[in-house]
Amino acid sequence: MHSTMMDFPLTLAHVFRRAARLFGATEVVSRLPDKSLHRYHYRDFHYRAAALGGALQAMGLKPGDRIATLMWNHYAHLEAYFGIPCAGFVLHTLNLRLHPDDIAFIAQHAGDRVLIVDDVLLPLYEKFRGKAHFERVIVVPLSGAAVAAGYDDYEQLIAAAPSLASPVLDENAAAGMCYTSGTTGRPKGVVYSHRALVLHSMASAMGDTLALTQSDSLCPVVPMFHVNAWGLPFTGVMVGCKLVLPGPHLDAVSLLDLYQSERVTFTAGVPTIWMGILQALEKNPAQWTLTPGMRMVVGGAAASETMIRAFDRHNLRVLHAWGMTETTPLGTTAHLKHSLQSLSDDEKYGYRSKQGLPAPFVELRAMTDDGEAPWDGTTMGELQVRGPWIAAGYHELPAEDDKWTADGWFRTGDVATIDAEGYVKITDRTKDLIKSGGEWISSLDLENALVAHPAVLEAAVIGVAHPKWDERPLAVIVLKAGAQTDEQALRAFLAPKLAKFWIPDAFVFVPEIPRTSTGKMLKATLRERFREWHWP
Ligand code: ADP
Repeated sequence: MHSTMMDFPLTLAHVFRRAARLFGATEVVSRLPDKSLHRYHYRDFHYRAAALGGALQAMGLKPGDRIATLMWNHYAHLEAYFGIPCAGFVLHTLNLRLHPDDIAFIAQHAGDRVLIVDDVLLPLYEKFRGKAHFERVIVVPLSGAAVAAGYDDYEQLIAAAPSLASPVLDENAAAGMCYTSGTTGRPKGVVYSHRALVLHSMASAMGDTLALTQSDSLCPVVPMFHVNAWGLPFTGVMVGCKLVLPGPHLDAVSLLDLYQSERVTFTAGVPTIWMGILQALEKNPAQWTLTPGMRMVVGGAAASETMIRAFDRHNLRVLHAWGMTETTPLGTTAHLKHSLQSLSDDEKYGYRSKQGLPAPFVELRAMTDDGEAPWDGTTMGELQVRGPWIAAGYHELPAEDDKWTADGWFRTGDVATIDAEGYVKITDRTKDLIKSGGEWISSLDLENALVAHPAVLEAAVIGVAHPKWDERPLAVIVLKAGAQTDEQALRAFLAPKLAKFWIPDAFVFVPEIPRTSTGKMLKATLRERFREWHWP
């Protein structure tokens, strides 16, 4: 029997039309390079994004052609987010923090035909222009300076654009693409369909995931070149909320000023951003009046319980989330189940610092050598995932097929436990696991325990070869400014909390831990550095 429902495609074109119809007066605020604030409304955004789409169509591009962006978070990038896919093209966000050679490689591999670039990022573009071959380069005059000859001026293009010929979009057609940051080898391209982005937005907005509504003032600090700023520009426009885009100013004081002036209710970013914010707040607690209970999504790397507790003291509510480029990225969020509300505070923090419960339509399992791990909160296995916004392959990289199981699950490369309530806890990445005397040790658990020490700012724990135990943990520690402690004190601090064999055999104090462009600790670099380590 056939259903009697309409065949209505799930595309961003609907989200775009709806935003203009219903929320024309909603504000979009962007911080510009000179720190001034650019303000306009959804109706302006809609008009300009449609004009961008029309201008691109007039260039003679084919449906499905890739348009690259090299941009910070601001109104013009938002226009690209909708103007490009709604005109039938594919938005390809380039990560401006990568090495210029990698950016060129990625643009070539993706087959990008056009580049849209912020004028303040032209010096970066100059570093790889010889290696990438865009047919047109469109410059956004963010700083107000005139656009040099040889480039298209974004503003002139929009002013002169023919109207957008809205194509009939297939929901499974490509809308966007993003490359993984290459922590685990060379960058791989993930292509998002309209359908995946729409379903991802719907699930993200739900009350038990991100709970976004039109009353929110949403500030994605996570860059729009990093997994579509976790889909927040799409979700925000779908619900019709105010958008606050921080431009290139991502230091703690600039962000706190913006949160205050724009009455931000919801923000999102990686832990390194929040550590800076926390330090600024602790130093000058009275300087800012923030929205009480402002929600802060922390993802991309683990949020420690220490951090979650510290923000609670400022009446700011951390929501821990896990995801990947390949999962669009929403996978899990750590809300407390209703049935757990009566637990003690300590137990609640235990759940909130896990990575959380899978969103609807995300299915997860942890696999061991002997099959699926029981949901007992202790058995570690490789986290595998499937769902309508999970990648089924990489752009033109068939050789990476081993990332998917024979029965169709994506192998995340993360190691996790799942507890009886369904909360996922990431314990490591597969390649970061420490195996000591045949037993696994979780480097993430150790790191979280270490940053709970008042003198410790950051900690990375790596496995180093050991003659007797195969591998033993070595802790690399960054102390807070002016703070002091030593190996003995740290051992004594960890002893009551962890199994004896988990306690690192060595503690090394360093000024800084190397990180990737997306804020993840570069453990491979640390392992290389301590390869010749001699255990006492
Ligand atoms: P890449 O895989 O290239 O580093 P992604 O941005 O796709 O870039 O990173 C996804 C990875 O980040 C996950 O597989 C996981 O290892 C890590 N990650 C993301 N969120 C969390 C989190 N909340 N806790 C711990 N690790 C996380």
